[in-house]
Amino acid sequence: MQGFEKFYRKNWAERLEVLRKTQTLSEKQIEQLKTNAVTPEVGETQIENFITQYQLPEGLGLNFVIDGKEYLLPMVTEEPSVIAGASHGAAIVKKAGGFTTASRQRAMRGQVILENVQEPTKLAAQIAQQADSLLQIAAKAHPSIVKRGGGPLELAVRKLAEDLLSVDLIIDTKEAMGANMINTMLEAVAEKLRSEWHLDVLMAILSNYTTECLVSATCRIPVAQLAKNGIQGEQIAQKITQASRVAQLDPYRAATHNKGIMNGVDAAVLASGNDWRAIEAAVHAYAARDGQYRGLSSWQVAGQDLVGELTIPLPVGSVGGSIGVVPLLAVNSALRQERGASALQKMLVSVGLAQNLAALYALVTDGIQKGHMSLQMKSLAAGVGAAGPEVDQVVSALKQLPRNQQNESSARKILAEIRSAN
Ligand code: NDP
Repeated sequence: MQGFEKFYRKNWAERLEVLRKTQTLSEKQIEQLKTNAVTPEVGETQIENFITQYQLPEGLGLNFVIDGKEYLLPMVTEEPSVIAGASHGAAIVKKAGGFTTASRQRAMRGQVILENVQEPTKLAAQIAQQADSLLQIAAKAHPSIVKRGGGPLELAVRKLAEDLLSVDLIIDTKEAMGANMINTMLEAVAEKLRSEWHLDVLMAILSNYTTECLVSATCRIPVAQLAKNGIQGEQIAQKITQASRVAQLDPYRAATHNKGIMNGVDAAVLASGNDWRAIEAAVHAYAARDGQYRGLSSWQVAGQDLVGELTIPLPVGSVGGSIGVVPLLAVNSALRQERGASALQKMLVSVGLAQNLAALYALVTDGIQKGHMSLQMKSLAAGVGAAGPEVDQVVSALKQLPRNQQNESSARKILAEIRSAN
């Protein structure tokens, strides 16, 4: 676009000047970009073509008792009902004793893809025989992670087609998610295979399907605790198990079921500074691990208890990427009260299960809209321009209306009436 040549080479002030000169934005809009950029020096180091900092609200998820200890969970989301739902689900579980979490391993996987392969079975065996020396090459490419007690752990070769092999490295990245260090190690292995083995390397990159870092949360809630609106807890528990069954059977329902889980997980991942696209990719790939996309959690009645379980891959770090760069992330880490990638993993899997419980509980009792709409009304009020005390006034007037009139035009009308009365 004209005027935007070499935009990436300009500094922040020069980029805003381009927007002014090209009349892309008005003075007032440019002022808005400036006001939103609270720490432009940080933003400029993070991305290319930086113009401002986009704001999302941050709140605290409460009631998270995990493995016997209570945590505060900072969450970043634009969806009104997410933090309320997570805290509500966590409160139910807290009353029943809290979440129990488990993780078997915390490692990542990277791939060197070989193409134009002749005799794939023979080549796979030859590469596997040289696993130790290839792992050493990987370790030498990023020695600092080995000094930290991590590094390459295993090498395995998978045949993808008659002409394609994947050389997989399993790598312990310690406290980092590890994308960059894995890619560095893979490229070193790829270079060896290319230059000395004379193989055709198509690419070398980490895999976001992180089956080596699965984390589980379980909870056990006495069914009597779920009684609501005169409906017995046992009946509600049965409906929750039925909802869980539907999510196993039907991908249309499974996608929504899992979206609900990720409402909480994504919000907490964002507040931790981790790469939420990597988590999304890992989790949804895992949901389709047997060839059909399925619900990630399961709920069953065992004796007098409703038992919930969620297992998901959570490739998160406590260092690396933006984590050391954005000052707010250190504050969020302090709020979580426990540092370290493993601690974050157990909070993330618990928030996913809490969010899922809150959603299913609402769906099989009041329906989702009751809780959603009361929170949505605040957004409706703000959306038509209500500010300060006007927001509550518009919300309480909207609540008096029948459900089918709780909409934007009513909110606009109510706000106009409030303003003309003052
Ligand atoms: P970094 O490249 O920032 O590497 C992690 C850093 O943390 C290293 O410099 C490491 O130091 C340092 N470190 C300090 N303490 C520790 C410790 N205890 N354990 C491990 N490392 C430690 O980040 P990652 O390699 O984790 O990569 C994550 C980034 O990569 C994210 O921003 C992600 O968005 C991005 N990315 C993601 C991709 C994907 O998911 N497909 C692809 C490409 C990039 P030292 O080097 O001295 O060991």
